[in-house]
Amino acid sequence: MNAPPTALHGSNSPAASATYRAPPTHPTLSGQDEGLLAAVAAGEVRLTASQALDAFHGLPIQTLGRFADLRARTLHGKHIRTYVIDRNINYTNVCNAMCTFCAFRRDPDDVDAYTLDPAAIHDKIAELAAVGGTQILMQGGMNPALPLEWYTDLLRGIKSKFPHIHIHAFSPPEFIEFVHFFDPPGENLAEKIRWVMVRLRDAGLDSLPGGGGEIFAPHVRRKIGLGKCDAESWLTCMAVAHSLGMFTSATMMFGHLEGIADRIGHLEMVRHWQDRSLLASSPESRQPGGHYKAFIAWPFQRENTPLGRVKDWAAEEGEFPGDLVAALDPEMPAEEVLARVPGFGRRVRMSSATDYLRTQALSRLYLDNVYSIGASWVTMGPHIGQVALAYGATDMGSVMMEENVVSSAGTTYCLDEAVICRLIREAGFIPAQRNNTYDLIRAHTGPESPDLRVTDWSEHRAQRMHQEAPRAVGVKRVAKVTIGGVSR
Ligand code: SF4
Repeated sequence: MNAPPTALHGSNSPAASATYRAPPTHPTLSGQDEGLLAAVAAGEVRLTASQALDAFHGLPIQTLGRFADLRARTLHGKHIRTYVIDRNINYTNVCNAMCTFCAFRRDPDDVDAYTLDPAAIHDKIAELAAVGGTQILMQGGMNPALPLEWYTDLLRGIKSKFPHIHIHAFSPPEFIEFVHFFDPPGENLAEKIRWVMVRLRDAGLDSLPGGGGEIFAPHVRRKIGLGKCDAESWLTCMAVAHSLGMFTSATMMFGHLEGIADRIGHLEMVRHWQDRSLLASSPESRQPGGHYKAFIAWPFQRENTPLGRVKDWAAEEGEFPGDLVAALDPEMPAEEVLARVPGFGRRVRMSSATDYLRTQALSRLYLDNVYSIGASWVTMGPHIGQVALAYGATDMGSVMMEENVVSSAGTTYCLDEAVICRLIREAGFIPAQRNNTYDLIRAHTGPESPDLRVTDWSEHRAQRMHQEAPRAVGVKRVAKVTIGGVSR
Protein backbone atom coordinates (compact mmCIF):
# COMPACT_ATOMS: atom_id res chain seq x y z
CA MET A 1 0.00 0.00 0.00
CA ASN A 2 1.29 3.48 -0.80
CA ALA A 3 1.72 6.05 1.92
CA PRO A 4 -1.72 7.06 3.20
CA PRO A 5 -2.92 10.60 2.66
CA THR A 6 -3.43 12.92 5.58
CA ALA A 7 -6.37 14.70 3.98
CA LEU A 8 -9.40 13.58 2.06
CA HIS A 9 -8.90 12.77 -1.59
CA GLY A 10 -10.24 15.47 -3.85
CA SER A 11 -12.76 18.03 -2.74
CA ASN A 12 -15.73 17.08 -0.61
CA SER A 13 -17.50 20.22 -1.82
CA PRO A 14 -18.11 19.81 -5.56
CA ALA A 15 -18.95 23.47 -6.12
CA ALA A 16 -16.28 24.91 -3.86
CA SER A 17 -13.89 25.96 -6.55
CA ALA A 18 -15.70 25.76 -9.87
CA THR A 19 -19.08 26.27 -11.44
CA TYR A 20 -21.06 23.10 -10.96
CA ARG A 21 -22.04 21.07 -14.00
CA ALA A 22 -24.05 17.86 -13.70
CA PRO A 23 -22.66 14.98 -15.79
CA PRO A 24 -24.55 14.18 -19.01
CA THR A 25 -26.72 11.08 -19.51
CA HIS A 26 -26.64 8.50 -22.30
CA PRO A 27 -30.23 7.26 -22.15
CA THR A 28 -29.99 4.90 -25.13
CA LEU A 29 -27.50 2.62 -23.36
CA SER A 30 -28.57 -0.32 -21.23
CA GLY A 31 -28.16 0.05 -17.47
CA GLN A 32 -26.18 -3.20 -17.57
CA ASP A 33 -23.65 -1.85 -20.07
CA GLU A 34 -20.28 -2.10 -18.32
CA GLY A 35 -18.85 0.74 -20.39
CA LEU A 36 -21.64 3.00 -19.15
CA LEU A 37 -21.06 1.89 -15.56
CA ALA A 38 -17.31 2.51 -15.85
CA ALA A 39 -18.06 6.04 -17.07
CA VAL A 40 -20.48 6.54 -14.18
CA ALA A 41 -17.80 5.31 -11.77
CA ALA A 42 -15.37 7.83 -13.24
CA GLY A 43 -17.91 10.64 -12.77
CA GLU A 44 -18.22 11.30 -16.50
CA VAL A 45 -21.84 10.20 -16.98
CA ARG A 46 -24.92 9.91 -14.81
CA LEU A 47 -27.49 7.12 -14.77
CA THR A 48 -31.08 7.66 -15.83
CA ALA A 49 -33.88 6.24 -13.69
CA SER A 50 -34.67 3.49 -16.21
CA GLN A 51 -30.98 2.53 -16.45
CA ALA A 52 -30.85 2.33 -12.65
CA LEU A 53 -33.90 0.04 -12.59
CA ASP A 54 -32.31 -2.10 -15.30
CA ALA A 55 -29.04 -2.31 -13.34
CA PHE A 56 -30.81 -3.13 -10.07
CA HIS A 57 -32.78 -6.02 -11.54
CA GLY A 58 -30.34 -7.28 -14.15
CA LEU A 59 -26.83 -7.12 -12.75
CA PRO A 60 -25.24 -9.69 -10.44
CA ILE A 61 -24.83 -8.10 -7.03
CA GLN A 62 -21.03 -8.38 -7.23
CA THR A 63 -20.97 -6.43 -10.48
CA LEU A 64 -23.11 -3.67 -9.00
CA GLY A 65 -20.83 -3.65 -5.96
CA ARG A 66 -17.69 -3.56 -8.08
CA PHE A 67 -18.76 -0.42 -9.93
CA ALA A 68 -20.08 1.23 -6.75
CA ASP A 69 -16.70 0.55 -5.15
CA LEU A 70 -14.94 2.03 -8.17
CA ARG A 71 -17.08 5.15 -7.83
CA ALA A 72 -16.25 5.32 -4.12
CA ARG A 73 -12.53 5.04 -4.92
CA THR A 74 -12.79 7.79 -7.55
CA LEU A 75 -14.30 10.12 -4.95
CA HIS A 76 -12.46 9.07 -1.80
CA GLY A 77 -9.31 7.26 -2.88
CA LYS A 78 -8.37 3.73 -1.88
CA HIS A 79 -6.89 4.22 1.59
CA ILE A 80 -9.19 5.85 4.06
CA ARG A 81 -12.70 5.17 5.29
CA THR A 82 -14.21 7.32 7.98
CA TYR A 83 -16.35 7.43 11.11
CA VAL A 84 -17.48 10.17 13.46
CA ILE A 85 -17.83 10.29 17.22
CA ASP A 86 -21.17 11.84 17.99
CA ARG A 87 -24.12 11.15 20.22
CA ASN A 88 -27.77 10.74 19.30
CA ILE A 89 -29.84 12.79 21.67
CA ASN A 90 -33.58 12.29 21.28
CA TYR A 91 -34.79 15.26 23.31
CA THR A 92 -38.44 14.17 23.41
CA ASN A 93 -40.47 11.14 22.38
CA VAL A 94 -43.76 13.03 22.45
CA CYS A 95 -44.97 13.29 18.87
CA ASN A 96 -48.14 14.43 17.18
CA ALA A 97 -47.50 12.25 14.09
CA MET A 98 -48.34 8.55 13.96
CA CYS A 99 -45.93 6.99 11.48
CA THR A 100 -46.81 3.33 11.09
CA PHE A 101 -43.15 2.26 11.11
CA CYS A 102 -42.37 4.03 14.39
CA ALA A 103 -41.98 2.36 17.78
CA PHE A 104 -40.46 5.46 19.39
CA ARG A 105 -43.28 8.00 19.59
CA ARG A 106 -45.49 8.49 22.63
CA ASP A 107 -48.56 10.55 23.46
CA PRO A 108 -48.00 13.25 26.10
CA ASP A 109 -49.85 11.29 28.80
CA ASP A 110 -48.15 7.95 28.16
CA VAL A 111 -46.34 6.61 31.20
CA ASP A 112 -42.97 6.59 29.43
CA ALA A 113 -43.33 9.88 27.55
CA TYR A 114 -40.37 12.16 28.21
CA THR A 115 -38.84 15.51 27.37
CA LEU A 116 -35.25 15.98 28.51
CA ASP A 117 -34.40 19.09 30.46
CA PRO A 118 -31.37 21.11 29.33
CA ALA A 119 -29.26 19.93 32.28
CA ALA A 120 -29.72 16.28 31.23
CA ILE A 121 -28.74 17.17 27.67
CA HIS A 122 -25.64 18.99 28.94
CA ASP A 123 -24.67 15.89 30.94
CA LYS A 124 -24.88 13.75 27.80
CA ILE A 125 -22.73 16.21 25.84
CA ALA A 126 -20.15 16.29 28.64
CA GLU A 127 -19.90 12.47 28.37
CA LEU A 128 -19.49 12.78 24.63
CA ALA A 129 -16.77 15.42 24.94
CA ALA A 130 -14.93 13.20 27.42
CA VAL A 131 -14.49 10.47 24.78
CA GLY A 132 -13.34 12.86 22.04
CA GLY A 133 -16.73 13.39 20.40
CA THR A 134 -17.21 16.27 18.03
CA GLN A 135 -20.94 16.57 17.39
CA ILE A 136 -24.42 15.80 18.62
CA LEU A 137 -27.25 14.51 16.46
CA MET A 138 -30.33 15.88 18.18
CA GLN A 139 -33.77 14.91 16.95
CA GLY A 140 -37.08 14.35 18.61
CA GLY A 141 -40.72 13.74 18.18
CA MET A 142 -42.84 16.69 17.10
CA ASN A 143 -43.91 17.99 20.48
CA PRO A 144 -46.46 20.84 20.39
CA ALA A 145 -45.80 21.74 24.04
CA LEU A 146 -42.32 23.15 23.37
CA PRO A 147 -42.16 26.85 22.39
CA LEU A 148 -39.50 28.36 20.12
CA GLU A 149 -37.70 29.75 23.17
CA TRP A 150 -37.19 26.22 24.50
CA TYR A 151 -35.12 25.45 21.41
CA THR A 152 -33.22 28.74 21.21
CA ASP A 153 -32.39 28.66 24.93
CA LEU A 154 -31.26 25.05 24.61
CA LEU A 155 -29.00 25.80 21.63
CA ARG A 156 -27.47 28.89 23.28
CA GLY A 157 -26.86 26.94 26.48
CA ILE A 158 -25.08 24.15 24.60
CA LYS A 159 -22.93 26.53 22.56
CA SER A 160 -21.88 28.55 25.60
CA LYS A 161 -20.86 25.43 27.54
CA PHE A 162 -19.56 23.32 24.64
CA PRO A 163 -18.46 25.75 21.90
CA HIS A 164 -16.44 23.04 20.11
CA ILE A 165 -19.40 20.65 19.71
CA HIS A 166 -21.13 20.76 16.32
CA ILE A 167 -24.92 20.76 16.64
CA HIS A 168 -26.48 18.62 13.90
CA ALA A 169 -30.16 18.83 14.77
CA PHE A 170 -33.84 18.99 13.82
CA SER A 171 -34.81 17.09 10.70
CA PRO A 172 -37.23 18.55 8.11
CA PRO A 173 -40.42 17.05 9.63
CA GLU A 174 -39.56 18.84 12.89
CA PHE A 175 -39.06 22.11 11.00
CA ILE A 176 -42.38 21.73 9.21
CA GLU A 177 -44.07 21.26 12.58
CA PHE A 178 -42.16 24.26 13.98
CA VAL A 179 -43.89 26.27 11.26
CA HIS A 180 -47.27 24.93 12.41
CA PHE A 181 -46.50 25.40 16.11
CA PHE A 182 -44.83 28.85 15.98
CA ASP A 183 -46.82 30.42 13.10
CA PRO A 184 -43.88 32.49 11.77
CA PRO A 185 -44.32 35.30 9.21
CA GLY A 186 -43.78 34.52 5.52
CA GLU A 187 -45.56 34.34 2.19
CA ASN A 188 -44.88 30.66 1.62
CA LEU A 189 -43.51 27.58 3.34
CA ALA A 190 -39.88 28.31 2.42
CA GLU A 191 -40.05 31.81 3.92
CA LYS A 192 -41.66 30.53 7.10
CA ILE A 193 -39.06 27.77 7.47
CA ARG A 194 -36.30 30.30 6.86
CA TRP A 195 -37.67 32.58 9.60
CA VAL A 196 -37.49 29.75 12.15
CA MET A 197 -34.21 28.33 10.85
CA VAL A 198 -32.39 31.68 11.01
CA ARG A 199 -33.35 32.00 14.66
CA LEU A 200 -32.18 28.48 15.45
CA ARG A 201 -28.98 28.99 13.46
CA ASP A 202 -28.28 32.25 15.28
CA ALA A 203 -28.79 30.39 18.57
CA GLY A 204 -26.24 27.70 17.61
CA LEU A 205 -27.69 25.23 15.11
CA ASP A 206 -24.92 24.19 12.69
CA SER A 207 -26.49 21.69 10.27
CA LEU A 208 -29.54 19.50 9.64
CA PRO A 209 -29.80 15.70 9.70
CA GLY A 210 -31.80 13.92 7.02
CA GLY A 211 -34.34 12.18 9.24
CA GLY A 212 -37.88 11.71 8.00
CA GLY A 213 -36.94 11.20 4.35
CA GLU A 214 -38.40 7.66 4.38
CA ILE A 215 -39.67 7.18 0.79
CA PHE A 216 -40.68 10.30 -1.13
CA ALA A 217 -43.25 8.59 -3.41
CA PRO A 218 -46.57 10.10 -2.27
CA HIS A 219 -48.63 6.89 -2.41
CA VAL A 220 -46.18 5.14 -0.05
CA ARG A 221 -45.58 8.16 2.14
CA ARG A 222 -49.31 8.68 2.70
CA LYS A 223 -49.57 5.10 3.98
CA ILE A 224 -46.56 5.01 6.29
CA GLY A 225 -46.04 8.57 7.51
CA LEU A 226 -49.35 9.53 9.07
CA GLY A 227 -49.15 13.23 9.92
CA LYS A 228 -45.61 13.66 8.62
CA CYS A 229 -44.62 16.24 5.99
CA ASP A 230 -44.74 15.42 2.28
CA ALA A 231 -41.67 15.10 0.04
CA GLU A 232 -41.94 18.62 -1.40
CA SER A 233 -41.92 20.14 2.10
CA TRP A 234 -39.02 17.91 3.19
CA LEU A 235 -36.92 18.89 0.18
CA THR A 236 -37.90 22.56 0.49
CA CYS A 237 -36.69 22.58 4.10
CA MET A 238 -33.31 21.20 3.04
CA ALA A 239 -33.08 23.72 0.18
CA VAL A 240 -33.64 26.54 2.71
CA ALA A 241 -30.87 25.11 4.91
CA HIS A 242 -28.56 24.95 1.88
CA SER A 243 -29.37 28.55 0.97
CA LEU A 244 -28.25 29.52 4.48
CA GLY A 245 -24.92 27.78 3.86
CA MET A 246 -25.70 24.70 5.96
CA PHE A 247 -24.64 21.16 5.09
CA THR A 248 -27.24 18.45 5.46
CA SER A 249 -27.70 14.74 4.82
CA ALA A 250 -30.38 12.80 2.98
CA THR A 251 -31.83 9.45 3.98
CA MET A 252 -34.10 6.71 2.71
CA MET A 253 -35.91 4.00 4.66
CA PHE A 254 -36.88 1.16 2.38
CA GLY A 255 -37.98 -2.48 2.48
CA HIS A 256 -41.68 -2.07 3.32
CA LEU A 257 -44.51 -1.09 0.95
CA GLU A 258 -42.51 0.58 -1.81
CA GLY A 259 -41.60 -0.67 -5.27
CA ILE A 260 -38.00 -0.71 -6.45
CA ALA A 261 -38.86 2.16 -8.83
CA ASP A 262 -39.95 4.19 -5.78
CA ARG A 263 -36.45 3.80 -4.32
CA ILE A 264 -34.96 5.08 -7.56
CA GLY A 265 -37.52 7.91 -7.70
CA HIS A 266 -36.35 8.85 -4.21
CA LEU A 267 -32.71 8.94 -5.34
CA GLU A 268 -33.74 11.00 -8.36
CA MET A 269 -35.35 13.64 -6.15
CA VAL A 270 -32.29 13.86 -3.91
CA ARG A 271 -30.02 14.21 -6.96
CA HIS A 272 -32.28 16.78 -8.65
CA TRP A 273 -32.55 19.02 -5.58
CA GLN A 274 -28.82 18.61 -4.95
CA ASP A 275 -28.18 19.88 -8.50
CA ARG A 276 -30.24 22.96 -7.64
CA SER A 277 -28.36 23.61 -4.41
CA LEU A 278 -24.96 23.11 -6.05
CA LEU A 279 -25.86 25.41 -8.94
CA ALA A 280 -27.07 28.03 -6.47
CA SER A 281 -23.77 27.81 -4.61
CA SER A 282 -21.50 28.02 -7.66
CA PRO A 283 -19.09 30.95 -7.38
CA GLU A 284 -20.93 33.08 -9.91
CA SER A 285 -24.21 32.83 -7.97
CA ARG A 286 -22.69 34.62 -4.93
CA GLN A 287 -24.71 32.43 -2.58
CA PRO A 288 -23.49 30.35 0.35
CA GLY A 289 -22.44 26.81 -0.43
CA GLY A 290 -24.75 24.53 1.51
CA HIS A 291 -25.67 21.14 0.08
CA TYR A 292 -26.19 17.46 0.95
CA LYS A 293 -22.92 16.01 2.20
CA ALA A 294 -24.10 12.46 2.65
CA PHE A 295 -26.76 9.90 1.90
CA ILE A 296 -27.64 7.01 4.19
CA ALA A 297 -30.24 4.35 3.41
CA TRP A 298 -31.48 1.67 5.80
CA PRO A 299 -34.09 -1.05 5.77
CA PHE A 300 -37.29 -0.78 7.78
CA GLN A 301 -37.10 -2.43 11.24
CA ARG A 302 -40.43 -4.01 12.09
CA GLU A 303 -40.45 -4.91 15.82
CA ASN A 304 -43.09 -3.09 17.90
CA THR A 305 -44.41 -1.12 14.93
CA PRO A 306 -47.91 -1.14 13.39
CA LEU A 307 -46.40 -1.55 9.89
CA GLY A 308 -44.40 -4.50 11.17
CA ARG A 309 -47.64 -6.42 11.76
CA VAL A 310 -48.44 -6.35 8.04
CA LYS A 311 -47.85 -9.78 6.47
CA ASP A 312 -44.76 -10.51 4.42
CA TRP A 313 -45.20 -10.74 0.69
CA ALA A 314 -44.65 -14.18 -0.83
CA ALA A 315 -43.51 -14.44 -4.44
CA GLU A 316 -46.30 -16.98 -5.16
CA GLU A 317 -48.80 -14.19 -4.65
CA GLY A 318 -47.68 -12.61 -7.93
CA GLU A 319 -45.99 -9.31 -8.53
CA PHE A 320 -45.33 -7.24 -5.40
CA PRO A 321 -48.11 -4.63 -5.09
CA GLY A 322 -45.58 -1.86 -4.45
CA ASP A 323 -43.93 -2.52 -7.82
CA LEU A 324 -47.32 -2.38 -9.56
CA VAL A 325 -48.23 0.91 -7.89
CA ALA A 326 -44.78 2.41 -8.58
CA ALA A 327 -45.48 1.98 -12.30
CA LEU A 328 -48.68 4.09 -12.08
CA ASP A 329 -48.94 7.86 -12.54
CA PRO A 330 -47.63 9.37 -9.27
CA GLU A 331 -50.40 11.98 -9.40
CA MET A 332 -53.13 9.31 -9.42
CA PRO A 333 -55.61 9.80 -6.53
CA ALA A 334 -55.22 7.32 -3.67
CA GLU A 335 -58.67 5.76 -4.22
CA GLU A 336 -57.87 5.00 -7.84
CA VAL A 337 -54.50 3.48 -6.87
CA LEU A 338 -56.26 1.15 -4.43
CA ALA A 339 -58.94 0.28 -6.98
CA ARG A 340 -56.26 -0.80 -9.44
CA VAL A 341 -53.99 -2.56 -6.93
CA PRO A 342 -56.18 -3.63 -4.01
CA GLY A 343 -53.30 -5.47 -2.32
CA PHE A 344 -51.21 -2.31 -1.95
CA GLY A 345 -50.38 -1.66 1.71
CA ARG A 346 -51.37 -5.19 2.75
CA ARG A 347 -47.98 -6.79 2.21
CA VAL A 348 -44.46 -5.69 3.16
CA ARG A 349 -41.35 -6.79 1.30
CA MET A 350 -38.72 -6.83 4.02
CA SER A 351 -35.19 -6.16 2.89
CA SER A 352 -32.50 -8.85 3.03
CA ALA A 353 -28.78 -8.19 3.45
CA THR A 354 -28.25 -8.51 -0.30
CA ASP A 355 -31.21 -6.24 -1.08
CA TYR A 356 -29.64 -3.70 1.26
CA LEU A 357 -26.22 -3.96 -0.41
CA ARG A 358 -27.77 -3.76 -3.87
CA THR A 359 -29.73 -0.65 -2.90
CA GLN A 360 -26.72 0.99 -1.32
CA ALA A 361 -24.49 0.22 -4.32
CA LEU A 362 -27.09 1.71 -6.64
CA SER A 363 -27.33 4.83 -4.49
CA ARG A 364 -23.54 5.30 -4.79
CA LEU A 365 -23.77 5.10 -8.57
CA TYR A 366 -26.93 7.21 -8.92
CA LEU A 367 -26.03 10.02 -6.53
CA ASP A 368 -23.05 11.30 -8.51
CA ASN A 369 -23.36 14.69 -6.81
CA VAL A 370 -23.38 13.49 -3.17
CA TYR A 371 -19.99 13.09 -1.53
CA SER A 372 -20.45 10.39 1.07
CA ILE A 373 -22.51 7.22 1.32
CA GLY A 374 -22.91 5.92 4.86
CA ALA A 375 -23.04 2.25 5.82
CA SER A 376 -26.03 1.42 7.97
CA TRP A 377 -24.53 -0.93 10.53
CA VAL A 378 -27.00 0.28 13.15
CA THR A 379 -29.80 -1.57 11.38
CA MET A 380 -27.87 -4.16 9.36
CA GLY A 381 -25.34 -5.18 11.99
CA PRO A 382 -21.60 -4.46 12.18
CA HIS A 383 -20.53 -7.09 9.69
CA ILE A 384 -22.93 -6.17 6.91
CA GLY A 385 -21.86 -2.59 7.64
CA GLN A 386 -18.29 -3.73 7.09
CA VAL A 387 -19.19 -5.48 3.82
CA ALA A 388 -21.02 -2.30 2.77
CA LEU A 389 -17.58 -0.66 2.53
CA ALA A 390 -17.08 -2.77 -0.62
CA TYR A 391 -20.49 -1.72 -1.98
CA GLY A 392 -20.04 2.03 -2.26
CA ALA A 393 -20.12 3.13 1.37
CA THR A 394 -17.15 5.18 2.56
CA ASP A 395 -18.29 6.10 6.03
CA MET A 396 -19.22 3.93 9.00
CA GLY A 397 -21.25 6.66 10.67
CA SER A 398 -21.04 7.13 14.38
CA VAL A 399 -19.70 5.39 17.37
CA MET A 400 -23.01 4.69 19.09
CA MET A 401 -23.26 5.89 22.67
CA GLU A 402 -27.02 6.26 22.62
CA GLU A 403 -29.86 5.47 20.26
CA ASN A 404 -33.57 5.46 21.00
CA VAL A 405 -35.43 5.31 17.69
CA VAL A 406 -34.19 2.28 15.75
CA SER A 407 -33.62 0.42 19.02
CA SER A 408 -37.31 0.85 19.85
CA ALA A 409 -38.01 -1.21 16.73
CA GLY A 410 -35.84 -4.09 17.85
CA THR A 411 -32.28 -3.38 16.75
CA THR A 412 -29.66 -2.58 19.38
CA TYR A 413 -26.13 -2.72 18.08
CA CYS A 414 -23.46 -0.91 20.07
CA LEU A 415 -19.93 -0.26 18.81
CA ASP A 416 -17.18 1.77 20.38
CA GLU A 417 -14.35 3.52 18.55
CA ALA A 418 -11.91 0.60 18.76
CA VAL A 419 -14.43 -1.83 17.25
CA ILE A 420 -15.40 0.56 14.45
CA CYS A 421 -11.71 1.08 13.64
CA ARG A 422 -11.13 -2.65 13.62
CA LEU A 423 -14.07 -3.25 11.29
CA ILE A 424 -12.74 -0.62 8.86
CA ARG A 425 -9.17 -1.94 9.05
CA GLU A 426 -10.25 -5.54 8.48
CA ALA A 427 -12.15 -4.35 5.40
CA GLY A 428 -8.81 -3.21 3.98
CA PHE A 429 -8.82 0.51 4.82
CA ILE A 430 -7.24 2.91 7.26
CA PRO A 431 -9.83 4.12 9.76
CA ALA A 432 -10.02 7.88 10.20
CA GLN A 433 -12.12 10.05 12.48
CA ARG A 434 -13.92 12.82 10.58
CA ASN A 435 -15.94 15.86 11.51
CA ASN A 436 -19.41 16.87 10.31
CA THR A 437 -18.09 18.30 7.04
CA TYR A 438 -16.19 15.05 6.30
CA ASP A 439 -12.78 16.62 6.84
CA LEU A 440 -10.35 14.30 8.60
CA ILE A 441 -9.51 14.83 12.25
CA ARG A 442 -7.02 11.96 12.46
CA ALA A 443 -6.13 8.95 10.34
CA HIS A 444 -5.20 5.93 12.46
CA THR A 445 -1.99 4.73 10.88
CA GLY A 446 0.22 3.97 13.87
CA PRO A 447 0.30 1.75 16.96
CA GLU A 448 -1.63 4.38 18.94
CA SER A 449 -4.74 3.67 16.85
CA PRO A 450 -7.78 2.85 19.02
CA ASP A 451 -8.06 -0.71 17.64
CA LEU A 452 -4.31 -1.45 17.67
CA ARG A 453 -4.05 -0.49 21.34
CA VAL A 454 -6.56 -3.13 22.42
CA THR A 455 -5.02 -6.20 24.04
CA ASP A 456 -8.21 -7.75 25.44
CA TRP A 457 -11.29 -7.51 23.24
CA SER A 458 -13.47 -9.05 25.94
CA GLU A 459 -13.82 -5.64 27.56
CA HIS A 460 -15.68 -4.54 24.43
CA ARG A 461 -18.12 -7.46 24.58
CA ALA A 462 -20.40 -6.34 27.36
CA GLN A 463 -21.05 -2.82 26.17
CA ARG A 464 -24.59 -1.60 26.35
CA MET A 465 -25.93 1.44 24.61
CA HIS A 466 -27.75 4.06 26.65
CA GLN A 467 -31.49 4.23 26.03
CA GLU A 468 -33.62 7.05 27.31
CA ALA A 469 -36.86 5.63 28.62
CA PRO A 470 -38.05 2.19 29.69
CA ARG A 471 -39.85 0.56 26.81
CA ALA A 472 -43.49 -0.25 27.38
CA VAL A 473 -43.48 -3.14 24.92
CA GLY A 474 -41.06 -5.52 23.31
CA VAL A 475 -37.80 -7.11 24.33
CA LYS A 476 -34.52 -5.48 23.47
CA ARG A 477 -32.14 -7.55 21.42
CA VAL A 478 -28.46 -6.95 22.02
CA ALA A 479 -26.48 -8.34 19.14
CA LYS A 480 -23.37 -10.41 19.46
CA VAL A 481 -20.48 -8.88 17.59
CA THR A 482 -17.98 -11.13 15.90
CA ILE A 483 -14.52 -9.65 15.61
CA GLY A 484 -11.81 -11.43 13.71
CA GLY A 485 -13.77 -14.69 13.68
CA VAL A 486 -14.39 -14.67 17.44
CA SER A 487 -17.97 -14.40 18.60
CA ARG A 488 -18.27 -11.77 21.35
S1 SF4 B 1 -41.07 8.61 13.00
FE1 SF4 B 1 -40.74 10.61 13.97
S2 SF4 B 1 -42.46 11.85 13.20
FE2 SF4 B 1 -43.04 9.70 12.84
S3 SF4 B 1 -44.20 9.13 14.70
FE3 SF4 B 1 -42.05 8.55 15.05
S4 SF4 B 1 -41.19 10.28 16.17
FE4 SF4 B 1 -43.07 11.00 15.20
